[in-house]
Amino acid sequence: MIDDLLQRPLKDLRISVTDRCNFRCIYCMPKEIFGADYPFLPKQELLNFEEIAKLAHIFAALGVTKIRLTGGEPLLRTDLPLLLDKLTSIQGIKDIALTTNGVLLPKYAASLQAAGLKRVSVSLDSLSDERFGHINGRGVGVEPVLQGIEAASRAGLKVKINMVVQKGANDQDIVPMAKYFKDAGHTIRFIEYMDVGNTNGWNLDKVVTKQEIIDRIDRHVMPLEAVPGQYFGEVASRYRYKGTEQEVGIISAVSDAFCGTCTRARISASGSLYTCLFATEGTDLRELLRSGLSDDVLAGKIASVWNNRDNQYSAKRGRDTNEASGKQKIEMSYIGG
Ligand code: SAM
Ligand code: SF4
Ligand code: SF4
Repeated sequence: MIDDLLQRPLKDLRISVTDRCNFRCIYCMPKEIFGADYPFLPKQELLNFEEIAKLAHIFAALGVTKIRLTGGEPLLRTDLPLLLDKLTSIQGIKDIALTTNGVLLPKYAASLQAAGLKRVSVSLDSLSDERFGHINGRGVGVEPVLQGIEAASRAGLKVKINMVVQKGANDQDIVPMAKYFKDAGHTIRFIEYMDVGNTNGWNLDKVVTKQEIIDRIDRHVMPLEAVPGQYFGEVASRYRYKGTEQEVGIISAVSDAFCGTCTRARISASGSLYTCLFATEGTDLRELLRSGLSDDVLAGKIASVWNNRDNQYSAKRGRDTNEASGKQKIEMSYIGG
């Protein structure tokens, strides 16, 4: 196991398998910027599945026990079950999850489950077709995502729902979404709107805080009680409806940052290693892989990056930040959410 400069171990690896997406969410890939002529990565610049699996092996040897596949929209890599097949056999990896917008789950849920996937997080920001269509930038309605959730459940996958809350865009949906998924028996996690990337026009006024979200659910759905955190590095604060086992999570990256226990590394679609979601610079692992270095040398380089990590962007937000330094942050669709 390896630690960074703030004694945080490397435990989780998020792998972005593509920078492309079939949505254009206003907070992630606004269509005005990610238009028809946007220079997405050509295929040869993406890591192939052998390369991803090789890196996953090395990270597992360095202490990683959890992998999350993300993007862009990971299900646009249509042969993703083949990657899962490779990842599930890696010694030390105890948990593999996938984050998706859900619309391709009816097609792939069964084969993903057969390849060893146990759980999936599906992003859905509203139950109103109008608001959701506006947020996803493609006019896609709610039904295709609900069908994806249903397909995942039917295939035997554990499902969690992610909702990014943006004041003025969908905060009126907090209560209806909480009620709907309480009744459906799925954990919903509310995510505070974050200043990832450089294109979403973020400001603090658009953030609905963890406390506001809890208050609204407590008052209008059912009283909540806190569930004690279960492990170091847990991202969501967990609550349950009093007297039940049904949980709700809040990811309070803005109002109550959790950098002190951040154990996550990220590999972008093009194979660069980032030690923070808000990073401005990465380490090109693809180049190192393709130059034929041994696994031991690669492991040494990755360990040295982690050993020198001191990221705590959210804890310091507004002070000493990347914007303050004038550097551009990496876009979320590229680095992986
Ligand atoms: N396309 C997949 C999806 O939407 O689930 C996976 C990639 S997406 C970048 C991963 C997660 O990041 C999603 O739950 C998305 O809602 C969230 N996300 C994207 N931009 C965000 C932002 N500015 N603030 C908070 N969460 C964001
Ligand atoms: Fe695509 Fe996910 Fe970003 Fe929306 S949040 S644009 S679905 S990558
Ligand atoms: Fe981790 Fe960076 Fe997020 Fe802090 S801001 S929790 S260091 S990814």
